[in-house]
Amino acid sequence: MNSTPVIAIRDFTKRYGSFDAVSNLTLEVEPGSICGLLGPNGSGKTTTFKCLLGLARQTAGSMDVEGAPVGPQTFENLSYVPERSALYEWLTLADHLEFNRRSFKNYDAKRADELVSLFRLERKKKVGKLSKGQQTAVALALAFSIRPRILILDEPASGLDPVFQRVVLDLIIEAAAMGSTVLFSSHQIGQVERAADRVAILKNGKLIVDGTVDSLKGSEKVVEAIFEQRVPDVDGLADDPRVRRIERSGRILRAYVQSDSEGIVRRLNEFSPKNISILDLNLEDIFINAVGGEIAMAGGDGA
Ligand code: ADP
Repeated sequence: MNSTPVIAIRDFTKRYGSFDAVSNLTLEVEPGSICGLLGPNGSGKTTTFKCLLGLARQTAGSMDVEGAPVGPQTFENLSYVPERSALYEWLTLADHLEFNRRSFKNYDAKRADELVSLFRLERKKKVGKLSKGQQTAVALALAFSIRPRILILDEPASGLDPVFQRVVLDLIIEAAAMGSTVLFSSHQIGQVERAADRVAILKNGKLIVDGTVDSLKGSEKVVEAIFEQRVPDVDGLADDPRVRRIERSGRILRAYVQSDSEGIVRRLNEFSPKNISILDLNLEDIFINAVGGEIAMAGGDGA
């Protein structure tokens, strides 16, 4: 794809005092694509969003939206939903929608009606009286009511029950299908896997994984063997060039295999596992492999 990226973050660094919250991040999001930004707490996701939107100043690097640094005109076509929704607690949803109607030329009243019923919201209630989940829903209804070309969503489904989480995902997918570009962060890897075509994983402010979901998932297989008793010592398995990493947890052995998974199955079959299968890598595996080696190894001695 050679199109100009809608979001272009290049060599971005944000330093607080002597601490690099984000270092040297380069990330581009193509038109109409959905990029999921993952990372443990404190890995720099919110900092990236804030600097991209001009709410904080980067220490180094450039951050462009539609080819230019964010300015007032950018916000005509961009919706940002921060992690903690920025709403006027003493106003109602109807008041907020009225603000949107007056402020955005693309405000779509019919779409707003649909969103209000989709999230089962009440227009007349003061926002401060709503639950956290309902406030998130209000922020999202406002964000989508202007049919934005660009959506930047920081943990958009936090505080929502699974039914509404699904609604949010569908809104994201639908918006991208209509040509919008989406950058969103989430702790829920399943959501990112379902919605995003592209994933970036941050750890300690550094980009450690970046690619399309399909290419990342296609890069490895997991051979999962379950044993009757304990996992046997398979001599030299961790050093096998076909294996990138092994993980032991109770009676389960998982080998992350870069090539010839059938060969690894044959090798493990010598130890008569109760069950053995070759699994596709999922996004959770990719995430844990990238950021959580220590979590993954908690159940055994690993590789
Ligand atoms: P995430 O959104 O991934 O949870 P953040 O971007 O909020 O992470 O934070 C990244 C790091 O920067 C954290 O270590 C956080 O404590 C630090 N940080 C964020 N904002 C500030 C600030 N205003 N002053 C100092 N440190 C900050």
